[in-house]
Amino acid sequence: MSETTTTGPWSTLSHLECPRCGDHLDASVHQGLCPRDGSPLLARYDLGAVTVTPDDVARRAPDLWRYHELLPVQGPEGVVTLGEGMTPLLPMPRLAADLGLGRLLVKDEGLLPTGSFKARGAAMGVSRAKELGVRGLAMPTNGNAGAAWAAYAARAGLPLLVAMPVGAPAITRAEVVAAGGQLHLVNGLISDAGRLVAAAVADDPDRWTDVATLKEPYRIEGKKTMGFEIAEQLGWRMPDVVVYPTGGGVGLIGIWKALQELLELGWVTGPLPRLVAVQATGCAPIVRAFEEGAEVSEPWADASTVAFGITVPKALGDFLVLRAVRETGGTAVAVDDDELLAELQHVGSLEGLVLCPEGAATVSAVRRLRASGWIGADDEVVCLNTGAGIIYPEALPVAVGDGEGEVPVVAKEGPLTVR
Ligand SMILES: *Cc1c(COP(=O)(O)O)cnc(C)c1O
Ligand SMILES: [Zn+2]
Repeated sequence: MSETTTTGPWSTLSHLECPRCGDHLDASVHQGLCPRDGSPLLARYDLGAVTVTPDDVARRAPDLWRYHELLPVQGPEGVVTLGEGMTPLLPMPRLAADLGLGRLLVKDEGLLPTGSFKARGAAMGVSRAKELGVRGLAMPTNGNAGAAWAAYAARAGLPLLVAMPVGAPAITRAEVVAAGGQLHLVNGLISDAGRLVAAAVADDPDRWTDVATLKEPYRIEGKKTMGFEIAEQLGWRMPDVVVYPTGGGVGLIGIWKALQELLELGWVTGPLPRLVAVQATGCAPIVRAFEEGAEVSEPWADASTVAFGITVPKALGDFLVLRAVRETGGTAVAVDDDELLAELQHVGSLEGLVLCPEGAATVSAVRRLRASGWIGADDEVVCLNTGAGIIYPEALPVAVGDGEGEVPVVAKEGPLTVR
């Protein structure tokens, strides 16, 4: 957070706004959902008070706090950080050629603290909760958010209560416990975990605050920095298409919000990229709603996919995801587990980047959309790899033993059978 030029305010946060009823709320105290209609709230800024330029921002430290005028934390002393942000935007030339595309880039969020982009939301959410005097944090998670919030909560000295499906990736359990979080495993899905957390919070509201996805307005402000970074890394320009693995949809809504803010500031010029929401066929409520022309999604029964981070049967912000996709001329696509796992290995061998299953799903979606002609050969496409492949050892295509296709174990005298 080195400062070069600061003439204006550190943050230009002005108020919170309900995207459903339009009400304005005070941002100087903790707020959950809109009291009138239960909608998530969005942070709004006095963009006219921003005095820095993209050049000033370019001289700052390479972390997400470089955009602090457009973030809610009120000053540098409020920042809880583990060095998050400015992940690589990697060109994928061999994969692009394989897909029949001129330009394909992957933003690799696997390098963030705790191994997923949930670190962005946790850094902002925890910083802001601490700043507003919240005493304890409670949340349901599919794993990665719990791991990230545990790390940042520990860093802030705040207690954290986590409820996680028993089927979530094992490493994320260990991450929560190692960072001192109070972990509960739930025999069910994230929606079940959410109900248990809400009940625990209702039981002792002075002690715990529900920081579930979109139940507080600042996680999305952390995730939106992916949009700022993509624009900055392209030289303050927007790509034609952004492809996002969608669970709660926070990252997709965040990128949409960030790019609108940059447009309003005049740091980029339009049009916005077409936003693509990708889900797995085993849990695709947003894709179904998109195809039916619905404004909200219906809960998905028996949700299941190896892409655990996007196993969200019903998202609180579904109407915002659908709005973002439709208003940008985007689309929503579901891909099969078999397809995305094959893609994971394919991308690894072509480009050396081991994607997480969610990230691999975005490449599978590009393959489908390129084949159908929805993505043209000249489109510049950005895929989000939302986590590190190595945090999903269960899903990686390696089996050891003597079976067909497995990695052989040989006696120490050898020989090795070299292909
Ligand atoms: C949480 C998660 C997602 C989905 O993120 P949303 O912004 O809530 O849609 C995608 N990928 C991974 C790896 C995740 O952990
Ligand atoms: Zn409202």
